[in-house]
Amino acid sequence: MSSINTVVSFIKQQYKTDDFIPLHVPHFAGNEKKYLLETIDSTFVSSVGAYVNQFEVMMQAITDTQKAVAVVNGTAAIQVALRLVGVESGDEVLTQALTFVATANAIAYQNATPVFLDVDIDTMGLSPKAVVSFLEEFGDLREDACYNKKTGKKIGACLPMHTFGFPVHLEELMTICNIWKIPVVEDAAESLGSEYKGKPTGSFGKVGSFSFNGNKIVTSGGGGAIVSNDLKLGEKAKYLTTTAKIPHPYEYVHDEMGYNFRMPNLNAALACAQLEQLDSFLVNKRQLAKEYESFFATKGIKFRTETPETKANYWLMCVELEDKFERDLFLETTNANNVMTRPIWQLMYRLPMYANCQKDLQINAEFLEERIVNIPSSVR
Ligand SMILES: *Cc1c(COP(=O)(O)O)cnc(C)c1O
Repeated sequence: MSSINTVVSFIKQQYKTDDFIPLHVPHFAGNEKKYLLETIDSTFVSSVGAYVNQFEVMMQAITDTQKAVAVVNGTAAIQVALRLVGVESGDEVLTQALTFVATANAIAYQNATPVFLDVDIDTMGLSPKAVVSFLEEFGDLREDACYNKKTGKKIGACLPMHTFGFPVHLEELMTICNIWKIPVVEDAAESLGSEYKGKPTGSFGKVGSFSFNGNKIVTSGGGGAIVSNDLKLGEKAKYLTTTAKIPHPYEYVHDEMGYNFRMPNLNAALACAQLEQLDSFLVNKRQLAKEYESFFATKGIKFRTETPETKANYWLMCVELEDKFERDLFLETTNANNVMTRPIWQLMYRLPMYANCQKDLQINAEFLEERIVNIPSSVR
């Protein structure tokens, strides 16, 4: 109890306030107002405009990919990414149960079914070992794709999520999925700026997806991005998210069911101003993570850090408590004292709409579910 009180005062010192400290709030210290006013003055606030293009170019550079496409939100980005790699109605998608609900929802929007596999303790993201075990038991590798022996359904994709910005074991996961002919889509919504062996997350899979929601490391108000190193897929992403229109001087020609998922120029303006500050946000957060790490070490509380081969963006920082009892005490004490903390998500198969999905034993996911707590992580 007293040790949690010192946690409360340490966090208040970090943010130099006695007022309520939220988990994560946006930081506007750059050209946000300037760019937003420019869009209004130009009248280009909506679906076309220079900032949309600039945002896409900036995202290509940041994620080291051939093509980035701006979309309305991160959930839409995942949904379209799954369609791009060929996920069809009735397919299955391998993913983790320890994730934000949008990961599973995006699969369902594509009329596919999630299969929930365990995470690794060190990354808190989809475990390559769990994927191998599942495929050795249920995988039926055919000429065209991999099928699930139990259900007879095609495994259309594997969708790992980089929890709180900590990259999953990408090399191992990519190797397995290549052997089993399963395309990888990265849910990199939380990991903009994170790296695995020096390469940005989102650039490993066939397609990657990002979110620019208000609680993410940088925000466009609401928004998302689809990235790919396959130019054809990238162009298809643009086409599908802009109503699948065939270019024509005046006729409306649409030859597929597309979406109106484009990011408005107004939001792209905000995103560009924010992306300009990404590097400084990353440095700022890493500094806070260092301070948390040395502080929590003296308290006997485990502060979660990046794995050796990765660089995390430290989007949402977290501690791992001894057990559920200690976790609840930590949550109650901090929240009662104006310091916002939150437990990690409930596992997806506990939600009514995903209760009947196939899953493995989930030993690590259930361990983390009872122990991980997010602590204030905003840029200071
Ligand atoms: C935020 C988030 C999303 C969805 O992003 P939105 O822009 O809010 O739709 C998807 N997956 C994960 C893991 C997220 O954290």
